[in-house]
Amino acid sequence: MSDIKLKDSKNPSGPVVVHGYKVYVDRNLCIGAGSCVAVAPNTFALDDENKAVILETIEQETIETIILAAQSCPVKAIIIEDEKGQRVWPN
Ligand code: SF4
Repeated sequence: MSDIKLKDSKNPSGPVVVHGYKVYVDRNLCIGAGSCVAVAPNTFALDDENKAVILETIEQETIETIILAAQSCPVKAIIIEDEKGQRVWPN
């Protein structure tokens, strides 16, 4: 995954904070289905283990698109919380 630019290289799958929301991928749940990558290609990519990671370019994606990507995940592996720590997705 040398050509993948991560938002946080120490935490490839997050959590990261973007637009005031915390976003992360539960790597134990992720099955590499790739629908998050299709919906939000500036936010998600698959690594060598076929797990979703969070890209440096996440800021270019709107929170609405990131939430849509999370909702497209068949195993609900993408978790989003607001600034108060309330879960936005899955709910
Ligand atoms: S849609 Fe879900 S299972 Fe598929 S790659 Fe993204 S996080 Fe993983």
